[in-house]
Amino acid sequence: MRAMVLHHPGEPLRLEERPDPDPAAGELLVRVEACAVCRTDLHVVDGELTEPKLPIVPGHEIVGRVESVGLGVVQFQPGDRVGIPWLGHTCGTCPYCVSQHENLCDAPRFTGYQIDGGYAEYTTAEAAYCFALPQGYSDIGAAPLLCAGLIGYRSLRMAGEAEHLGIYGFGAAAHIVAQVARHQGRSVYAFTRPGDAEAQAFARRVGCAWSGGSEDQPPAPLDSAIIFAPVGALVPKALAAVRRGGTVVLGGIHMSDIPPMPYRLLWGERVVRSVANLTRADAIEFLALAGRTPISTHVTPFPLSAANDALSRLRDGQLTGAAVLVPDALMSS
Ligand SMILES: [Zn+2]
Ligand SMILES: [Zn+2]
Repeated sequence: MRAMVLHHPGEPLRLEERPDPDPAAGELLVRVEACAVCRTDLHVVDGELTEPKLPIVPGHEIVGRVESVGLGVVQFQPGDRVGIPWLGHTCGTCPYCVSQHENLCDAPRFTGYQIDGGYAEYTTAEAAYCFALPQGYSDIGAAPLLCAGLIGYRSLRMAGEAEHLGIYGFGAAAHIVAQVARHQGRSVYAFTRPGDAEAQAFARRVGCAWSGGSEDQPPAPLDSAIIFAPVGALVPKALAAVRRGGTVVLGGIHMSDIPPMPYRLLWGERVVRSVANLTRADAIEFLALAGRTPISTHVTPFPLSAANDALSRLRDGQLTGAAVLVPDALMSS
């Protein structure tokens, strides 16, 4: 099979021929149909996340068909469509795992980080961490649901009952979360890089009540805000826009340093919290919701061999919605 492989952080991925993987007991062998590109992949490639297995095949928003199953797999059969997310393995016995917080497991393994992921024609995954996907989404359209959607949804839940919700950084996660929040009857205010008229127009197209630059004040005080951009300087800005008692949720796995700020920005029982990973319960809840809620995912397909190009466009802020890698053979057909 062909795979895009990271050997050393800071270097481009290399296109390689590898033997097709074999599913171990409890695993699925999956033929990859689409794999969305997440900002976390960029943090792995750029070396901001420091614990990858190397070499590693990135990619943790995988949609594929089950090709074969390992010993003991009963949930899936060959031919089934499955989604494979970031959470690839948990220990099952640590204090977090036994208290429904497996997203914080002491000894987790993550897809595309410690487990070879979806920037390839085939991948293997533990069946217990794979999910059936809602109908009504194409393979390419479903791929961003698996992290942008899923962890975006966990971030939305952490934002509480907020009627007026701010979102800082309007990429793949934001465009899905905005649609879900709108469907729940909330008003969404989108903050982009100052002057990014294209992203601001995109935000309004997917139902945001207002969009502007991160320096701007929204027309109404925010009840809560979610920051998806990996920019620590947005934390005091978001706190300044959030009312007393509101929450600022940090939805990314990595962020530049948060600058010093006056205590008065936090005063008034404002809360700053991060969101880490996902639980399988999150995936089940969000994918069921995505089946009931019409979410229109905005995707730009790239051939698998052009993964480096997709990553640079994400790094440079040149993507609208989500980039999705498709095996070259499927792209031309
Ligand atoms: Zn654990
Ligand atoms: Zn992700």
